[in-house]
Amino acid sequence: MARYIGPACKLCRREGEKLFLKGERCFTPKCAFERRSYAPGEHGRASQSRGERVSDYSRQLRAKQKARRLYGILERQFRRYFSVALRKRGLTGLNLLQTLELRLDNVVFRMGLAENRAQARQLVTHGHFLVNGRRTDIPSMLLRPGDKISVREGSRSRPFFKELADFAEKRNCALWLDRDLSTLSGRVLRLPERAEIDGNLSEQLIVEYYSR
Ligand code: SF4
Repeated sequence: MARYIGPACKLCRREGEKLFLKGERCFTPKCAFERRSYAPGEHGRASQSRGERVSDYSRQLRAKQKARRLYGILERQFRRYFSVALRKRGLTGLNLLQTLELRLDNVVFRMGLAENRAQARQLVTHGHFLVNGRRTDIPSMLLRPGDKISVREGSRSRPFFKELADFAEKRNCALWLDRDLSTLSGRVLRLPERAEIDGNLSEQLIVEYYSR
């Protein structure tokens, strides 16, 4: 599946807030948003200083783009997730966010096994993970409560994975997941609740965008 390969910091600047797409760097003064907190492009700084009125459509579009960029998904796939969320019972917005959270690359990230989602995605595509004991290299794979994720036996001897437990120790694991760093494995305990999904997302605006 295709993915965005342009500069990540540009996305934060376009959304007007830090999306923390790069991991450690995002917390340092090197963060591009700290230095240039206006939209990229020729008119970025000018539009900020003009303080233009924001239309409803613009707010809906920005909410959708922000979620898409946070999870590293292109438009077609994001729209597909929305269609799936729409068909499910319950609140469409929450269904959408839960679907996004249950992507394999996001689960690896939420377990603290990767610095950011892009790195999690790369680790998955390189085939370092097993889901329920089977090797998988599909970052968009949707997990379910009870699914078990582990690092493949052959990958554990690699320098990156030897040091991973120490790095992961410093990162939080989402409450709806369980992890065991001694075996570099984890499990999806349940669906995430709305309060457990951070990123300051406005699912209602996303639903409005696709319901126009
Ligand atoms: Fe965004 Fe991180 Fe780049 Fe800062 S360093 S602009 S938070 S991706």
